[in-house]
Parts: sequence; structure tokens; C-alpha cells
Amino acid sequence: MSTFQAPKGTYDLTPPRSATFLAVREAIAAPLRDSGYGYIETPGFENVELFARGVGESTDIVTKEMYTLTTRGGDQLALRPEGTASVLRAALEANLHKAGNLPVKLWYSGSYYRYERPQAGRYRHFSQVGAEAIGTEDPVLDAELIILADQAYRSLGLRQFRILLNSLGDKGCRPVYREALQTFLRDLDLDEETRRRIEINPLRVLDDKRADVQKQLTDAPKLRDYLCDACKAYHEEVRALLTAAGVAFEDDEKLVRGLDYYTRTTFEFVHDGLGAQSAVGGGGRYDGLSEMIGGPELPSVGWALGVDRTVLALEAEGIELDLPYTTSVYAVPLGEEARRVLFGVVTGLRRAGIAADFAFGGRGLKGAMKSANRSGARYTLVAGERDLAEGVVQLKDMESGEQSAVPLTEVAAELTKRLG
Ligand code: AMP
Repeated sequence: MSTFQAPKGTYDLTPPRSATFLAVREAIAAPLRDSGYGYIETPGFENVELFARGVGESTDIVTKEMYTLTTRGGDQLALRPEGTASVLRAALEANLHKAGNLPVKLWYSGSYYRYERPQAGRYRHFSQVGAEAIGTEDPVLDAELIILADQAYRSLGLRQFRILLNSLGDKGCRPVYREALQTFLRDLDLDEETRRRIEINPLRVLDDKRADVQKQLTDAPKLRDYLCDACKAYHEEVRALLTAAGVAFEDDEKLVRGLDYYTRTTFEFVHDGLGAQSAVGGGGRYDGLSEMIGGPELPSVGWALGVDRTVLALEAEGIELDLPYTTSVYAVPLGEEARRVLFGVVTGLRRAGIAADFAFGGRGLKGAMKSANRSGARYTLVAGERDLAEGVVQLKDMESGEQSAVPLTEVAAELTKRLG
């Protein structure tokens, strides 16, 4: 193994591709910020019980994929595999729900960890931007979140994604369905592990990707037929609100998602250019989660969008984000004295809010101009002994190629004017 190799299932974000990741995070966050969501940041690890109780002990995430560790002090911790349980825990701890302003609307951005089998679009360390609206049961809120995710993807130029929508019922009607489904599944020809799943999380069997399993599921009882009137009405309202907003979706009865805490509205954003790992984001309502982790009843809804897969989706659609160069001015000193003087000029420009960079290391003019070109700077400043003796620097417009001498004392003002 090479010394310079990121751990299996992980990769580094390096320039220039890293700029796209930042832009994607920003594009997802922008509509949230504009819609009353406040920023929240929680630790990268939590007590392991939070996820065991919150995400669910029967889920793959908890049973197989969690990075757990025991600290020197004996605490059992887990690197966070997802965001919702932590955000809800933090909101409860800070009593945000008692400030008399429900729902508590929060957004976050960060790293998540799952010990998965690495493949294209599936990593052991990945990045999500998420949103949670805590403490209110209102179909408008479910619709708001789906519309904002749609808006975020569209603002990036993405078009080949679809929204899958389902309702999982509530604590009244879902158990009745669950039992009917279990009765049906127990009669099928299934392997040991799947049989065990029937007993702990039968809805997940519906999600099985194997053709021989899917073939047996054709006549499985449908959750739709078991939804109570309140759940049906709620779901119809969400659907109507999305339609009114011009957000297209597909009803997908098989959509159960991999986490135990979902109730009623569940949805997933899938992208058709990504192959097997097609889910770019997902979420739903989790009315029971607060109580599951020991809090009061706080019906809530949220989503998390995967940054890595969103970048892959952009690449799949051939979309190059229009990312402006970050450097406006590049300074090239010729000689010792020029280095000191021009570095002073660069520092002044930076303090005046002009993005400026510098040819370090005393390179020759040719190499330095190459770096200037690569930086994308609109202007370069070049100065040698003779310029300094005259109290000027050469200001070159890299687009037109025009060059003129500008007095040292006026460089900042001139550049401020030109850069608008
Ligand atoms: P989930 O909570 O599993 O629905 O994840 C939400 C989103 O996070 C998914 O739609 C993916 O975009 C992303 N995601 C989840 N797991 C991974 C992973 N192992 N590697 C990359 N992205 C992931």
C-alpha cells in the first residue's frame, strides 16, 4: 500500500474538482437559508444508543455499517451515519422546541460515515446537506421541503432526476399493515436472513433488489389499502401541494427507505444517470423519532441530499458549473526589491477586498506568467527595478493583452475601478 492513499472507500476533495463540491453545498443550502432554516452543527460522533434507538436496531445502517468505538473513558460512541437523529437530539438538548416558535427549521452540512461495500457513488465517508423541520404536523411543511430540494437541484441545472413519493402510514394504521405483510411474507420461499427481516422490519423486504424475491411479491398486501383516512387525506394534500407548485413526482408504493423512523410522507430523489446508486437524496416525516430517543411528541419532517452523488449527477448530465475564478489580480515581481514592494501592494489589495495572488519563490518571468494565466486572474501586475525607480507597476489586462504603467500609489484605486 502506498503511503499516500486515503483509506478504503474514501477519497479527497482536491482542486479544481473541490470547487464544484463547495458550489453544490452552497446551492443546496441557499434555498433553505432563504426559507427560514437556521444553521446547526453537531459533533461528528454521538453516543451509540442515539443511533441504535433513533435509526433503528433492525436497519443495515445500525447493524452492519456503523463505525463504533469505545473511548479511553469507556464511552460507546459511533461516527454519525446520518444527520436526523443528531439534529433532533441537539434541538431537544437546547430546548429549541420550547422557544414557542414551531416548527424549528434547521439545516446542516457535513461528513457522514458508513462501513459499506465501496462502489461508484457509495463511499465510507460521504457528505450531505440536510434540512429538518421539527415539531409541526402540516402537509405544507412536507411539501415545502420537497419543493426546496427540487429547487436546489434545478438551480444546479440538473434535469434527469425524479421524485418518488409514498406514505408509510402512522402509528395507528402501519402496525395493522405490518402484520398483514408479515403473514403474507412468512409463506414465501426466502433465505434465512430475509426471514429474520420479516420479523423485525418486514417493510424492508419489499425493497429487496433480487428478481426472485420481487417475483414473489407481486400479490403482497399494499400499504395503500391499509392507510387510515387521516393518513390518506394528509398524503393527498401533500400530493396536491406539489402538483400546484409544478413539482412532478411519481407515486412509488415500494419506497420504504432504509431507516426505521419514517411515518407518513417518504420520498426519494433518484437520478437516471448514476447506475445502481441512483438515490441522490431522500427523506420524509418522522413523527415518532423524538419519543423513540426519549423526547416529547414532536412530529417532524426532513431530508438529506448527498453531495457526492449530486456532483456525480452533474457529471452524468455533462453540466459544468459556471464557477468564477477566485483570483482577480496576480502579481509578478522581478527582483528582490520588487518582491517586497509588490507583496505590499498585494496585501493592500487584499485588505481592500480585491482577490489577489503572488508569484512566490522568485521564479522567472515566463514561469510566473504561466501561473498568472492558470490562476484565471483578469489582471497581472508586473514590476522590475526600472518600474520601481519610476514609481510605477505594469498593469496588464489578461483578456485584451493591453498593458499600461500605473503609479504605485494608484494601483488599488485603478483596480477597484476596473473590477467594478
Ligand atoms: P440515506 O439517509 O441513506 O437516504 O442517504 C441520503 C443520501 O445520502 C443518499 O440519497 C445519498 O445521496 C447519500 N448517501 C448515503 N449513503 C451514501 C454513501 N455510502 N456514499 C455516498 N453517498 C451516500
